[in-house]
Amino acid sequence: TPDVRPLVAGNWKMNGTRSSLDQIKAISEGVRGGLYSKVDALICPPATLLYVATALCTDSPLSIGAQDCHQNASGAHTGDISAEMIADCFGTYVIVGHSERRTDHDEDDALVRAKAEAAHAADLTAIICIGETEEQRRKGETLDVLKRQLAGSIPDGANAARTVIAYEPVWAIGTGLTPTVADVEEAHAFMRRELSERFGEQGSTMRILYGGSVKPSNAKELMAVSNVDGALIGGASLKAEDFLAIYRVY
Ligand code: PEP
Repeated sequence: TPDVRPLVAGNWKMNGTRSSLDQIKAISEGVRGGLYSKVDALICPPATLLYVATALCTDSPLSIGAQDCHQNASGAHTGDISAEMIADCFGTYVIVGHSERRTDHDEDDALVRAKAEAAHAADLTAIICIGETEEQRRKGETLDVLKRQLAGSIPDGANAARTVIAYEPVWAIGTGLTPTVADVEEAHAFMRRELSERFGEQGSTMRILYGGSVKPSNAKELMAVSNVDGALIGGASLKAEDFLAIYRVY
């Protein structure tokens, strides 16, 4: 998208211990120096590594974020973390509505929207994930699903600076399968129209990432699709070398 700074983001999911901090260090060094400064880079490690990861990235262009937050600011919610806690650890982004959260924890669009609102209240950038299941695609429901998820998951006051959309077909996550370039193009063009209609100029410049089995070998082709403003990367973000190879397609 013209005038939009792409974002290459890694989601480590429930992977990573202190020994993985070497990978964060290597990624931080790999994006340092401004050589590729047209692109933003982000890693979302598990919450246990958040604070130490941000401490490693002081003065680095690599941003650190979390993988989820609770919709409330504080209180009796054992095991959850708030957006404010993420900000307190110097995290600047949070993923909300990842399909694994939607499935494992029964999260629906209304909850995802509330989480995005909590993220915005803490001045975090919310990466709001949407995407159709295999069955929905087979039935030809993809665009209807995206329309419904966009309408339900994004807060009304969302702006391009603090909101990123990640289109992740559920059947492409962790499977090695990716949609065709034509399918990605159709989905992203559709989302762009929906966002522009609802949010005007903010919607025209809101970043829309593609996610689902992005690898060094297919990143160039996928990132070149119009209205694809970067990637959300699971498996391939765990190794600095792979993450940086994707980052460098820009
Ligand atoms: C993800 O979890 O957001 C993801 C896209 O995973 P993978 O790249 O492993 O398919």
